[in-house]
Amino acid sequence: MDARPEERIWNELRLRLAEPKLQPGEILEDGITPMRSVVTEPMQRGRLFLAGDAAHIVPATGAKGMNLAQNDVRILADALTAWYRTGLHDRLDHYSESCLQRVWRAEHFSAWMTALLHRDPAGDPFEHKLRLSYSDMSRPQKQQRPPWRKTTSASIPPLRSTSVFGKVNSAPTGLDQARIFT
Ligand SMILES: Cc1cc2nc3c(=O)[nH]c(=O)nc-3n(C[C@H](O)[C@H](O)[C@H](O)COP(=O)(O)OP(=O)(O)OC[C@H]3O[C@@H](n4cnc5c(N)ncnc54)[C@H](O)[C@@H]3O)c2cc1C
Repeated sequence: MDARPEERIWNELRLRLAEPKLQPGEILEDGITPMRSVVTEPMQRGRLFLAGDAAHIVPATGAKGMNLAQNDVRILADALTAWYRTGLHDRLDHYSESCLQRVWRAEHFSAWMTALLHRDPAGDPFEHKLRLSYSDMSRPQKQQRPPWRKTTSASIPPLRSTSVFGKVNSAPTGLDQARIFT
């Protein structure tokens, strides 16, 4: 945190909140939050069911953790209700499968977004240029294009994600964890 004195933090907040007159207050706690991606799959074993952050973590960049947690609980609640009402457990059996498609979509989006918004100082300069290029494309175009340029931003295909998925390790519990550290 040495590179981030309090004044720098307040200046950043003023800038990002567009509140130039924001008055400083007491900072009770500060720290750098490491961002990571984790998926535990399957999300169930026997009568154990994992939901929310216990099963998967997404980097904060995508703002999807709570949404995923709520979706897990919705699916699990429906499956439990069906089991209590009818004794049928097929929905419970497919709980993990039902959740994981959305989980991996959110993991992919969040990892991609994190890679887009963060620069690794030791990273590949070519990838950094691609990142800048993509950011430029996403911004509203203010400048008039020169008349000899026929292409429009809509005709440029989007870049693929540069995120790298970690290997899947076997965990002693029988549940596998795939981790992406960002
Ligand atoms: C700074 C920040 C910003 C975020 N912003 C967003 C956002 O914009 N959008 C979004 O979708 N997600 C966001 N998230 C992620 C979201 O908060 C989490 O993904 C979500 O809260 C996970 O819900 P959960 O129920 O799985 O876990 P939690 O909300 O962590 O709930 C777990 C609960 O279990 C309790 N607990 C822990 N251990 C025990 C124990 N041994 N006994 C009893 N109780 C225990 C804890 O006290 C806690 O209340 C953000 C997270 C952070 C940290």
